[in-house]
Amino acid sequence: MISQQLLLDITKCSRCGKCTAICPMFEKTRGWDTGVARGKLLISWGLVRGELEINDKLIESLYQCPTCMLCEQECAAGAKVTEIIREARALVVERGASVPFSHRGTFDTVARITLRDGLHRDWLDLIRGDFRESGEIVYFPGSLPYLEPILDFDLGAARIISAAVKIFNRAGIRPTIVKELADSGHDTFWSGQYQFFNALKEKNSRLLAGAKMIVTTCAEDYYILKNEYSLDAEVYHISQFVRDLVREGKLAFSKGVERVTFHDPCRLGRHMGEYDAPREVLKAFADYREMVRYGKDAACCGVGAWMNCNKYSKQLRLDRVKEAAEAADTLITACSKCLSHFSCLMTEPEKVEDLPDIKIVDFTEFAARNLKDI
Ligand code: SF4
Ligand code: SF4
Repeated sequence: MISQQLLLDITKCSRCGKCTAICPMFEKTRGWDTGVARGKLLISWGLVRGELEINDKLIESLYQCPTCMLCEQECAAGAKVTEIIREARALVVERGASVPFSHRGTFDTVARITLRDGLHRDWLDLIRGDFRESGEIVYFPGSLPYLEPILDFDLGAARIISAAVKIFNRAGIRPTIVKELADSGHDTFWSGQYQFFNALKEKNSRLLAGAKMIVTTCAEDYYILKNEYSLDAEVYHISQFVRDLVREGKLAFSKGVERVTFHDPCRLGRHMGEYDAPREVLKAFADYREMVRYGKDAACCGVGAWMNCNKYSKQLRLDRVKEAAEAADTLITACSKCLSHFSCLMTEPEKVEDLPDIKIVDFTEFAARNLKDI
């Protein structure tokens, strides 16, 4: 049920058009106002008041947006655009329409499978390092173990999880990995499937009940665990965890010469306000360069919650990797989904014109690779 406050928010829109100028998706799709924030707000208003029928056009308008938050950040009226879009999606789901998932809904199905008790892949054997299966300091690998077998390119899930364990171990910590954890529910939440999300949250909260600290390697998992769960534990993104360990003198890096740049995942950056931690870590040992659009102005990877992977999102991804290639030889990101979407693009060279020569590397893997003994 959309709150009165959000409804009021819709009426705040002065139709100034700033979001029209700034929306990266609209820059690709063009067309009517339904492609930008102010149009999506009107659609949400009509939907809430029962004045609009749900049809394909309405669904496209609400779900084409990757909820990157650029418009919301710039909106002079202060409208909570992404929250309103998500609530409108929840109404679409509540009224029985299907979510327009990409990849025939495979990732949504996999999230559903993770809900079932006793049904998990025995992937812990693939992880190197010293970890335990219960304890107070938890590493949350999120969807990594489930994404890897589905994607038809090497995401490096086992390498990334092992890298996280290496970071913990180097700081003298034996982390807990709970293999029965379900998908974090980030995508179910943002697709408007609140009932499904609550079931995932309930299962994970039960399994995480004894945790005092939880560290995630994925920006989306960090966002959802910190904002939408009610855990007793402190939740950290791995970039914050590593930064703190370096400041405490518990981790150090070997100086490298690799020219790297950082892609701010929307969930870590604009949604959670964390821009500095990954940069502080990377600048400690790599030849760090900034892209033209970075920090709060960073471009989105183009896809949100596996729902709008199409030719437009592909153009956004291509723009971003080209921008990265102008700044550096390696693009680092700190979100399993951004990593998936960029890696997918880079493994299709025969299908993409002008694909730049740039490596895409996960933050955790890159940091662990450059650790020095202290
Ligand atoms: S920037 Fe905000 S106030 Fe201006 S048109 Fe867009 S949603 Fe409305
Ligand atoms: S959240 Fe991003 S993609 Fe969605 S309408 Fe706003 S600027 Fe456009």
